[in-house]
Amino acid sequence: MSKNQTYSGLHLPDGMRVLSAAEMRRVHDAASAAARRHGVRGYIAAEIVFDALATAGVFNEPLSPDPDTCTAQYLPHDPAEFDADTLGVWQQCDEEPGHDDDHDSGEIGWPEGAPGSLPPKAAS
Ligand SMILES: [Zn+2]
Repeated sequence: MSKNQTYSGLHLPDGMRVLSAAEMRRVHDAASAAARRHGVRGYIAAEIVFDALATAGVFNEPLSPDPDTCTAQYLPHDPAEFDADTLGVWQQCDEEPGHDDDHDSGEIGWPEGAPGSLPPKAAS
């Protein structure tokens, strides 16, 4: 019962998954409610919650990619490889659409088909 197939082509290691939009909303609402109870700013509570979830291998959905560059996306998912600032923060390739070498966000590079990657969306 994995939700990893929500996005065709996204493969994450066993036990990791991407939250659905409804789950993300519930997590955000719970963080906001707890923040209010404790006098913490909501965006701080949300960042703590999502960083903590990412460490456990539970991630946000990707945003729709910007169509001006290659639309390949990558989810930095390995806590041994990425620090808290990058873990779980979706990356989009900033190369020209249709390029044929590895994808690169300017911060992270990844080969097509790497675990945690989404292929470029087909041009419409
Ligand atoms: Zn690319």
